[in-house]
Parts: sequence; C-alpha cells; structure tokens
Amino acid sequence: MQKVNYGRMMDEKLEELKRSGQRPSLLLHACCAPCSSHTLTFISSLFRITLFFYNPNIAPEAEYRYRCDELKRLVRELGLDIEVIDEEYDPAPFYALAKGLEDLPERGERCRKCIALRLETAAVKAKELGCDYFTTTLTISPHKDCQFINECGGAAAEKYGVAYLFSDFKKHDGYKHSIELSRQYGLYRQDYCGCVFSKRASELKKQEKNN
Ligand code: SF4
Repeated sequence: MQKVNYGRMMDEKLEELKRSGQRPSLLLHACCAPCSSHTLTFISSLFRITLFFYNPNIAPEAEYRYRCDELKRLVRELGLDIEVIDEEYDPAPFYALAKGLEDLPERGERCRKCIALRLETAAVKAKELGCDYFTTTLTISPHKDCQFINECGGAAAEKYGVAYLFSDFKKHDGYKHSIELSRQYGLYRQDYCGCVFSKRASELKKQEKNN
C-alpha cells in the first residue's frame, strides 16, 4: 500500500482551520499523559477538545487508574478547561480480541486489533457527543505504525459518519517535546505499552539485559 504523508495532511488541515477562524469540537482519544502532553499543547488552541481515556488493553487495573489520574493531573497543571471522559475499567473486550494472539510481538495482529478497537470506540463516542472530529494521541509514538492508525481512523470515520483528524503528532519534534513536557510536569512514563503481554515482554527484556 502507498505510504501517505499524514504529517503533511495534519498540517494542511490545521492551517485550513487557522484561516477559517473556526474552532470545531474534537474528541481526542488519549492513551496516557506523556503522549497527550505535546498533542494538547499543539492543538488545543484550534479545537474545543474533550479527552477520551478508553484503553481496555491496560493491565493491571492499578496501572489503568494511575495512567488516567496522571492524564487528569496534566490537564489541570496545563490550566486547560478540558473534560476527561474515562470509562469503568473493563478489559474484557481486549482479552476477547487478543485470544490466540497473546505471544505475538508488538506491531503484530494483536496490536492492530487493539488499536482498531480503541479508534472504533472513539468514533462511536464522538458521534454520540456530536463532535465535529475525533483523533488519537497514538500517532506520537515512534513505536507504533502511524500509517495503520490513520487507516483505522479513516475507516471508523466512514463507518460512523464522523470526521477523523489525520495526524502524525511526531512531526515538529512532537515526540521530543512530549519527553521534555513529561520531565517538566514530572509525568509517569510507563516502560511498557499497556497490556499484560507487553508488560511481560518488557520484563523479559530487562532480565536479559541484567544477565
Ligand atoms: S502491545 Fe500495546 S498496542 Fe499491542 S496489544 Fe498490547 S497494549 Fe495494545
């Protein structure tokens, strides 16, 4: 499949919004505070944002709560008047999609399904709330497949009839900026992606390093 420059697409859309003087509503799916830090400072002047913390992949529950609490603290400390919608902890949909895919490495089929679930749910929530756009902070991660995330967003947008903001939040040194902001605000930066399988893989890697 042909590679699309999602960074350029994002820049063009943001320029268009700046010129129009409009400030549409946006449901921003957030995976954690560090990934949201740059994204929020980058686009919050252009959109009326609602944050959506929907991540049934995260385990254990204490980790889920901590990541969500850190996101809320970040919003407060940035002085932004933004609502954070968080769902009850319910990992069942994640374990259903991960069945039989537990041992796959990151960026494989389990991850594609995990990302698709979160984006589809964000599209449904955006529709329910009447948001003009939805998108996700996930494209800031250099470990994730930006092309796939955007394809998923585009497909969910068509399916549910809500516009998707194509993005590559790594652009303009976004990832580097997120690390600086994480330091500045003392944000918790997790050392595994989120699910129990990525936690296990990360622990194994650490053990191998120490041996
Ligand atoms: S490694 Fe990350 S993206 Fe992949 S399934 Fe686990 S939580 Fe989801």
